[in-house]
Amino acid sequence: MAKVHNYSAGPCILDESVLKEAQAAVGNFDNLDLSLLEISHRSKNFVAVMDEATALVKEILNVPEGYSVIFLQGGASLGFLITVMNLMRENGKAAYTDTGAWANKAIKEAKLFGDVNVLGTSKDSNYNFIPKDYTVPSDIDYFHCTSNNTIYGTQMKSFPECSVPLVCDMSSDIFSKSVDISQFDMIYAGAQKNLGPAGATLYIVKDAVFGRNGRTIPAYLDLQTHASKESMFNTPPVFSIYVSMLTLRWLKANGGLPWIEARNNEKAALLYNEIDRNPLFEGTANLEDRSVMNACFVLKDEAHKDAFDKLWNDSKINGIKGHRSVGGYRASMYNALPVESVQLLVDCMKELEKTA
Ligand SMILES: *Cc1c(COP(=O)(O)O)cnc(C)c1O
Repeated sequence: MAKVHNYSAGPCILDESVLKEAQAAVGNFDNLDLSLLEISHRSKNFVAVMDEATALVKEILNVPEGYSVIFLQGGASLGFLITVMNLMRENGKAAYTDTGAWANKAIKEAKLFGDVNVLGTSKDSNYNFIPKDYTVPSDIDYFHCTSNNTIYGTQMKSFPECSVPLVCDMSSDIFSKSVDISQFDMIYAGAQKNLGPAGATLYIVKDAVFGRNGRTIPAYLDLQTHASKESMFNTPPVFSIYVSMLTLRWLKANGGLPWIEARNNEKAALLYNEIDRNPLFEGTANLEDRSVMNACFVLKDEAHKDAFDKLWNDSKINGIKGHRSVGGYRASMYNALPVESVQLLVDCMKELEKTA
């Protein structure tokens, strides 16, 4: 059990066994008497790490034939631009849903290069729901959505029918549950929310995307460059990829996505039940759109703030302060957070009810 119950929104909690192994590899990797951080990324020992990380992504997510798995630097924020470069034709058209701050940043990048049709937005209600009342046009280059809105605590429970390539920013819910990869032409996700330390960004891209839009793409922004070099076009973020590989081993050893999905649903149910039961609290997101990863809630009466903050601080709970654009509290319950940590937060909420 971790000393601190870490609800950080990202970078976020990693399993303790993963951290221990990572620590050891920083000291002496593979009995080479060298640190993981000071060997060549082209050494056979590190190439084996890259190969295993890639294979585990394919195995755990059940990635079909005809897709490439790539690890790149730049964060999901570079993914916003990489999407446009790889999927949009010159002066092309795309559609996006505007479900939060990250979706908005993705839209801004696309607008620099073509027409953007914003199909649905929940901006006027501070992004507290997932718009569903739209039809994806068929005359666009791609449709982009954000599966989980980390800041507002909303999550898409299904993806719309669409006849055009579907692209998804899955930064904050990838590996949290089963997903049908074959629906997507491209998925991208920053490592630091469910996979490993910041530094690497995971791309899963249909090979049919390569070269399809006919535009000249700068080498680093072209996913085909990286697919053809097995993520070794330039020096990859070795530490982030190594720790991501350890996390994927941990996930697989425990039962993969069926195991983690059940555990994540259990944690979310535990906390949301208390938010709904306890008269002092209320959730901020629409019930049907609530995120299993990030639960946002507020105190109905701010007068209880100091007492509640003292309770969870005394319980060594960390990172539940809400994002400044929502306020209140946000409990990020990523894969590595144990059920016991959620029970402890629920106990604090019950204790407040008793003493307030
Ligand atoms: C955190 C986050 C990002 C930004 O990721 P970076 O790797 O910091 O660029 C993008 N999209 C979503 C949904 C996120 O949660």
